[in-house]
Amino acid sequence: MKLSEIGEFGLIGQIRSSFPAPEGVEGIGDDCAVIPQQAGMEMLVSTDMLMEGAHFLLEDVPAYKLGWKSAAVNFSDIAAMGGDPVGSFLAFALPKCLPDGWVEEFMRGYGDISRHYGFPLLGGDTTSSPDRLSICVTVLGQAPRGRSLRRSKAQVGDLVCVTGTLGDSAGGLDVVLNSRERDSDAEHLLARHYMPSPRMAEGQALASTEGVHAMMDVSDGIASDLRHIMEESGVGARVDVASLPVSDALIRFCGRYGLDIFRLATGGGEDYELLFTMSPDAKPGIDYTIIGEITDGIELVWNGSEHDYSGFRHF
Ligand code: ADP
Ligand code: MG
Repeated sequence: MKLSEIGEFGLIGQIRSSFPAPEGVEGIGDDCAVIPQQAGMEMLVSTDMLMEGAHFLLEDVPAYKLGWKSAAVNFSDIAAMGGDPVGSFLAFALPKCLPDGWVEEFMRGYGDISRHYGFPLLGGDTTSSPDRLSICVTVLGQAPRGRSLRRSKAQVGDLVCVTGTLGDSAGGLDVVLNSRERDSDAEHLLARHYMPSPRMAEGQALASTEGVHAMMDVSDGIASDLRHIMEESGVGARVDVASLPVSDALIRFCGRYGLDIFRLATGGGEDYELLFTMSPDAKPGIDYTIIGEITDGIELVWNGSEHDYSGFRHF
């Protein structure tokens, strides 16, 4: 498909036919989407932008995977509150030089993850860009009123926990930036980088577990993200570096290229795992790793390392 031939409304028409709204909801087609409100629920809304050059390189990332990831990073914000999916909005500015078929592939990736997690695409905006591609996704979720988990409720004595493994996405980025050999470890890390799996079910389970106090998703690395929980909650934290969960693929990859695995696991970012705190007697029925404890004070102490790790900084 050539963008210049089908134009803005042709493209919107194609998107509309591949993304029907669910029963009872009006999605693409009018000035606004119309979403009935349910009594006793609170709405969760978040928006995230991906800029060519800053978040991805058009030559490096396949369109399908960029479509997947654009949605994934937003769904992860709903997961981080423990919410249920409602829908998403997709605004993009498309440069004229995009290869033919690029937008279809992007939408295929966006559609596959949206169906997988149950987020219908309910609207958006489509413009041309004089220069670079930019993508902005807004996501809507909901939770029973009072259930969603904040960053600000961590308590002294809480365990600090994460789902999954940390640092894989940073390893995948290293594969791209340093043109590493694409062996099976590199492919595993690349998949985690390009196609993160938002922890929706885990987030919902945690929000329904007695004693889970604070939660957020790991987008900039725990060195940065845990500080957000500390600041919002007015507490300190100790992380036991040796207990950080890392994948076997990342261990081998870091060994092969002499990389500091703890630097990747603490500061790499884009893992989209859940970072949460809970009282020691809480029993969430999901897989997670205890990585430290919430302390009295303001310090973030890396127990077992002489380094002071920091997260990804955009500026
Ligand atoms: P408006 O002039 O009100 O902004 P548009 O012509 O831009 O309307 O959009 C028409 C419809 O198509 C609206 O429902 C809008 O939400 C939807 N839409 C536009 N672009 C996209 C997109 N990239 N993805 C999903 N829906 C879109
Ligand atoms: Mg518009």
